[in-house]
Amino acid sequence: MEVLSTQHLLKAAYDPENFRNIGHQLIDLLSDHLSQAQTASKDKVLNYRSPEKELEFWKEHFQSSQLNPVDTFKAILLHSIHIQDPRYMGHQTATVAPMASLAGLMSDLLNNGTGVFEMGPASNALEKLVTDLLSTYVGYDNRASGILTSGGTLANLTALLAARKAKSNHDVWQDGHKNKLAVIVSEEAHYCIDRAARIMGFGDDGIIKVPVDADFKIKTGMLEYYYNQAISKGLEVIAVVGCACSTATGSYDDLEGLASFSKKHNLWFHVDGAHGGAAVFSEKYKYLLKGIEQADSIVIDFHKMLMTPSLTTALLFKEGKNVYKTFAQKAQYLWDSPQSEDWFNSGKRTFECTKLMMSIKVYTILKTYGVEIFEQNVNQLYDATKDFANMVSERPNFDLLIQPEANILNFRYVACKLDQDINAVNSVIRQQLIESGDFYIVQTTVNDQKYLRCSIMNPFTNKDHFKTLLNEIENIGNLL
Ligand SMILES: *Cc1c(COP(=O)(O)O)cnc(C)c1O
Repeated sequence: MEVLSTQHLLKAAYDPENFRNIGHQLIDLLSDHLSQAQTASKDKVLNYRSPEKELEFWKEHFQSSQLNPVDTFKAILLHSIHIQDPRYMGHQTATVAPMASLAGLMSDLLNNGTGVFEMGPASNALEKLVTDLLSTYVGYDNRASGILTSGGTLANLTALLAARKAKSNHDVWQDGHKNKLAVIVSEEAHYCIDRAARIMGFGDDGIIKVPVDADFKIKTGMLEYYYNQAISKGLEVIAVVGCACSTATGSYDDLEGLASFSKKHNLWFHVDGAHGGAAVFSEKYKYLLKGIEQADSIVIDFHKMLMTPSLTTALLFKEGKNVYKTFAQKAQYLWDSPQSEDWFNSGKRTFECTKLMMSIKVYTILKTYGVEIFEQNVNQLYDATKDFANMVSERPNFDLLIQPEANILNFRYVACKLDQDINAVNSVIRQQLIESGDFYIVQTTVNDQKYLRCSIMNPFTNKDHFKTLLNEIENIGNLL
């Protein structure tokens, strides 16, 4: 009896007609959601609930008797933040091209693990195609090679592991640490660089944070000072990391300056272009990345400005052949020869063993719309942010932190009453705004001051949205 019912359940779970039927309903649901989001939707960007309330909802949902997955999908949609809504201007998450999400569905059903060639012939070949294409856009020659990996955080760690392999006086991979190693970064670098260095055992001393100028770019003129200080402390500096651009303010470091400093001291030069590296596709904005082609390694997230579902990150190496040494381990059950340089076994070079079929999502965008869609997206987002900055500057109630280079804008409401604390006021404004569900923005702390922070990620976010947002902030501020 029990055996029979189990078989019944398994049959239902894998029933093709059931999949077709529910799948069509899901596509209808998501298409309606897209259409709503794009047409001045009355829906909230985020139905804000406290974490406890949210958990309570799902515990009750789990107890309820409904079994149709479409009802569950509807509940998930209602309880998710709507990135496709142009009033979403929060963290730097791609507004996914819907075709790429269909490729994501293929990845989830086919479930090709991709780490070894046979576990993803298409996804392995397309990984090479996609990373080779990106390599030409950053200005690398045919010695370059790249991988796709699960996020900028992991890609930055992988790059620093390669840097250690290439530059350290000892084989740390083989023998463990003998010297105290260090990397030089800007104090505005993404926290994952700091985390990567700590994971690698560098400790506090091993993360040398160089101050930034008024535009939040690394003070290139101070590199020499910090380098000498490290050497006199007995540290072995292996790498310099440039931000292109920084996460908090969207500032691009002077990559040419960093490149010549790295060359002079024989250091690995890594560029964290997780967010702003996408500008390599833009004739108009690629000047921001001048010098990127001199980097030994570069990280670019497709899931930030390149319209691809998370996580899809490219890690590129100028000298592709070095990279096979990063994770030189024996895994006889996976590979005949762990030392050979076969591009088609991507797991040799990635942290992951199994990974998503990331390349098919990027390829679907490229093949459907052409590479120029990336340029259009970057230009649209960067141009819109400049419009937004001008609108903020024109209003005396606001203070703009800096003119934006990218699609990240920081500003704050300054028309406070005498007894009000400007930081508290801006925090309350942000909280009320996201609870209203009319917009989603975030906040950041710069020089101990709270700023409202927007990333313009959606190509349909326009001046009307900016105007309504600024009006709404003024209204909230006025009533406080
Ligand atoms: C987003 C970001 C990261 C982290 O990338 P994930 O893909 O979120 O892991 C690293 N560096 C910069 C500059 C970023 O903007």
